[in-house]
Amino acid sequence: MNLMLRASLLLCAALLSAQTTPPEQDRQLARSIYKEFVEIQSGFSTGATTPVAEAAARRLKTAGFPDSDIFIGGAIPKKANVVVRYHGTGARKPILLLAHTDVVEAKREDWTMDPFQFIERDGFFYGRGTGDDKAQAAVWIANLIRYKREGFRPDRDIIVALTADEEGGGPYNGVDWLLKNHRELIDAEFCLNEGGWGEEAGGKKISNDIQVSEKYVIDFRFEVRNKGGHSSMPVPDNAIYHLAAALDRLGKFGFPLKTNEVTAAYFKQMATLNKEPLKTDLAKAAAGNEESMRRVAQVSAAWNATLRTTCVATQLEGGHARNALPQLAAAGVNCRVLPEESVDYVKTTLEKVVADDQVKIIITGDVPKGPASPMRSDIMKAVGRLTDTIWPGVPSIPIMVMGATDGRSLRSAGIPTYGIQGFFMDRDDIRFHGRDERMGVQSFYEGQQFLYELVKSLSAQ
Ligand SMILES: [Zn+2]
Repeated sequence: MNLMLRASLLLCAALLSAQTTPPEQDRQLARSIYKEFVEIQSGFSTGATTPVAEAAARRLKTAGFPDSDIFIGGAIPKKANVVVRYHGTGARKPILLLAHTDVVEAKREDWTMDPFQFIERDGFFYGRGTGDDKAQAAVWIANLIRYKREGFRPDRDIIVALTADEEGGGPYNGVDWLLKNHRELIDAEFCLNEGGWGEEAGGKKISNDIQVSEKYVIDFRFEVRNKGGHSSMPVPDNAIYHLAAALDRLGKFGFPLKTNEVTAAYFKQMATLNKEPLKTDLAKAAAGNEESMRRVAQVSAAWNATLRTTCVATQLEGGHARNALPQLAAAGVNCRVLPEESVDYVKTTLEKVVADDQVKIIITGDVPKGPASPMRSDIMKAVGRLTDTIWPGVPSIPIMVMGATDGRSLRSAGIPTYGIQGFFMDRDDIRFHGRDERMGVQSFYEGQQFLYELVKSLSAQ
């Protein structure tokens, strides 16, 4: 190999590695903010998010952000949120970068180390919130400080909001509170949030997922009331039998299989990652082929749930005495509904399936419903291009999730929200909400760089 070629190869290698993680100074900054956040005990039910908001504000002020661009406030004093605005030219509507600062509770005795001490060990950062969601929170702040230092002038304002009480929701949820009380602070053309991350299997990177939509939840109660009577003189009209027959019919029923824009794109990508004969079925399922969708739905519970609305019995109650005919029999039925299907459609379908007017089908609680975010080509393209730059050959895959994040409230409020992180994790060892939660050190810095480039490319034309 001649020297020139060698020198240019070395240069290429240096440029490539320079692109996959941030400069030393920015890595250090992100790490130190991350450590500070993780060590603040912001447990959903026992902790406070206000110290996290204040820590973020201190970092921003030290970096020269004016007080007037930083807002701290929330539903109650210990559940504060922080919102900061980095001003652009205003040519386009702002972009919102969101992360939650509360964490699922963690007990010292359940862990092999102190969950609220940030520990770097064997290539991982350990601590409650290292995955969910303080990595993204720290990165948003560190990257904003980097843009400012570099003099980056975006063509839109970049807003970072670190918010309270995503885990478990409830009255102090920061996103709901901000939407209700200070919409102008977080109003944006779209939002980037948690919900999609990089999938790794056996040390190999599989895909960089972007969450575009989520199912919504309806809780039903099937209820049968009956005049009852003495158990020594049974009659055919029995509340428990009515309910049992209704649940039996529900158990045998499946909602129609279908794909939407997001799940079709997901199965199309899945086809490229799998071998025959599944490969063909996945491709045909993506195109809406009934037979293929049926076979794909049988492969895994997750794929079944991606292809249809599901309703399942989760709780039972009934009867009041061993020797009395039941006056009440009831079941809780939990439905996870495709975003394009309506509450009404699900309810009338269940009534048809049950086909017994003795069984009352009642919706319990609220039904918070958000539309799917459109698959914006600017975002999908930027994610795809940057994923391929940092992790060559790894596809980015749009996904719909079965759970719920703060994205739901934002989508309902007309702010399309995309779950994207670029933090890669072993998909068979996701420790969110569990013990010894961790994040790969290299994954963290690569995600930091990915999000830095992503936000930059979405705010400069
Ligand atoms: Zn989370």
